[in-house]
Amino acid sequence: MPNNKLEKIVSLCKRRGFIFPGSEIYGGIGGFYDFGPLGAELKFNIKQAWWRDVVQMRDDVVGLNAAIIMNPKAWEASGHVSGFADMLVECSKCHIRYKADDMPDKCPECGNKLDNAKARSFNIMFKTFVGPAEDTASVAYLRPETAGGIFVNFKNVIDTMRVKVPFGIAQIGKTFRNEINPKDFIFRTREFEQMELEYFVEPDDSGRAFDEWVGLREKWYEQLGLKNIRKHEQSKEERAHYSKATIDIEYEFPFGWKEIEGIANRGDFDLKSHSEYSGQDLSYTDKESGEKYLPHVIEPSAGVDRIMLAFLCDAYTEEEDRVVLKLHPRLAPYKAAVFPLLKNKPELVSKAHEVYSLLAKNYSLGPIAWDDRGNIGKRYYSQDEIGTMHCITIDYQTLEDGTVTVRDRDTMKQERVLAKELTNILKEKVG
Ligand code: ATP
Repeated sequence: MPNNKLEKIVSLCKRRGFIFPGSEIYGGIGGFYDFGPLGAELKFNIKQAWWRDVVQMRDDVVGLNAAIIMNPKAWEASGHVSGFADMLVECSKCHIRYKADDMPDKCPECGNKLDNAKARSFNIMFKTFVGPAEDTASVAYLRPETAGGIFVNFKNVIDTMRVKVPFGIAQIGKTFRNEINPKDFIFRTREFEQMELEYFVEPDDSGRAFDEWVGLREKWYEQLGLKNIRKHEQSKEERAHYSKATIDIEYEFPFGWKEIEGIANRGDFDLKSHSEYSGQDLSYTDKESGEKYLPHVIEPSAGVDRIMLAFLCDAYTEEEDRVVLKLHPRLAPYKAAVFPLLKNKPELVSKAHEVYSLLAKNYSLGPIAWDDRGNIGKRYYSQDEIGTMHCITIDYQTLEDGTVTVRDRDTMKQERVLAKELTNILKEKVG
């Protein structure tokens, strides 16, 4: 992969409204990004695909939407207050800080030699204060992962829903980490979104469930067309002390193979610890056998922003005379764009508006683009660059026989179809 591929993607994302530097008019803020109109759609489509496949299509998984700020005791129980830290090394000359496990020998800013022996621990949770008094009693944290909200609601869910082990609780939401070195565009940021599932199983069943979820998650990426992925099994030294096994799914970014999702067998660490700290009994009673136990947990944990970058890198294709984002139909921000052949011919424009409304009304197709600038060639170029699946042109023949041309993004082939059949044709193509 050429080294400048990432730069090209960053530039396309800015130019075409996918991703902007956070608070750009004030000079930006390190580690934060804003998602533009097309980025918001792409992110929404990734989350929707995950929610559909992991929650809605399964009868053993329910969803949850917990608060970002939780009682700080929850983060004591999870070990984040005492141990969610990275080792930090500060350049003694220019005082720039580096993450010790990802640090160059010399400071890239001033050339000074960096000394790993001087690394110190730095907790990466963001602190805030709840209420008007800024004292230690009012300290709270922005959640550093979404899983915590799931564990503290475990009892609420089993008391209110007819769930039976094995079952899962899933959540998508914002997560905050005060990363020492945010870098590689949206790969490592300080505010991002996670999609996490906690799947509760009988202790003896955890090995089987772990293997099953590793397989399912790998297949999910493959089904969405992501190439260049591999699994990496973490060694005992790499994984958390409570984890019995962890497998990362990695993607080959232009800057190397990196984790996009981790699947961990967490044993009963979380429920046990929250039971101890909260004083609440978080065990589960099997209604049939009467057996009472703490379920073990399998956790697939993925970052929406990182996955989005992987899909963008994978989809970015340079062809002879065009750049095309070959995003999977489920992910493409626009499934279709509608063009009147000429913008100064009212009869073509009004017919094109009719076709546009017909498609836009259809919920499952998502937003539809409208383009009447320049010539058709330029419009194709512009839609290819943002991954629009189909371009539909309304011309004089449309006024005569009701047909339109549909041009496919990947094959660039055009076919004439009846406008009134477009919705069904597109739904079939998009899947
Ligand atoms: P890393 O080692 O890269 O910091 P991690 O192992 O700490 O990641 P987890 O705590 O397992 O990450 O989080 C699960 C997922 O959340 C990761 O696979 C990744 O997709 C995403 N994620 C974690 N940290 C960040 C971040 N700073 N920016 C964007 N996404 C992140």
